[in-house]
Amino acid sequence: MESAPTQNRRVRFDEAGAAQMDRTAVEVFAPIYPVIAEQIVQRMGITQGCCVEIGSGPGLLALALAKITCLRMILMDAAVPMHVKARRHIAASPFPHRFTLLCGDVHHMPLNDACVDLIVSRGSVFFWERLEDAFKEIGRVLAPKGRAYIGGGFGNADLRDRICEKMMSLQPDWRSFRDRNLGEDTRIKFLSALNASGVLFDTIKDESGFWMIIRKENDLEMRNL
Ligand code: SAM
Repeated sequence: MESAPTQNRRVRFDEAGAAQMDRTAVEVFAPIYPVIAEQIVQRMGITQGCCVEIGSGPGLLALALAKITCLRMILMDAAVPMHVKARRHIAASPFPHRFTLLCGDVHHMPLNDACVDLIVSRGSVFFWERLEDAFKEIGRVLAPKGRAYIGGGFGNADLRDRICEKMMSLQPDWRSFRDRNLGEDTRIKFLSALNASGVLFDTIKDESGFWMIIRKENDLEMRNL
């Protein structure tokens, strides 16, 4: 099932950009997705219901999560060319019926209130223009007991170092891009927007990366953070 594309003036990935992102995901980043998917399951403890990946790109994180859970996956991205890439990976998976492609912007998600059990997002938050609004919107669509796992990282230190080396050989300015995204200034900006948005949240900063966990309710202890 696929939604009609919405008009989005802030699409950041055209066809060439989507093709490059897909190549990089498949040829360089591929090993990180199963590791991050395992960490999400272990840390969030949600394995069924509806999961939305925001800024899903080629969809490799959602595919890795689908393999180890019973979640129904909605891949939401603001860029239609990313869905062209994701559609190919979904079609080659053993469970294409569990995926829906949704064109949408995190600032105005085309989703009802309180309908999503788990939101995941990797590498997309760095592109969001109005973080406070985006975090409020995530709080709006989360179901009671729902959680969101949002941020950036490579799963562990070994993968981080290997990917960094490979990316720098392909794009010499990549290290400064990565350092800026995962640096202290960016973290402070995220924390300030989280506080301003009024959502309940925790953060993780370790060798898996920097992750923000948004909770709908202050009910359960975080698992193994
Ligand atoms: N999550 C994927 C991964 O880790 O392979 C793709 C990461 S890619 C660097 C960032 C993605 O976020 C792109 O597909 C882009 O179109 C999407 N994106 C950027 N801003 C967005 C927004 N405001 N709403 C939804 N998606 C957005």
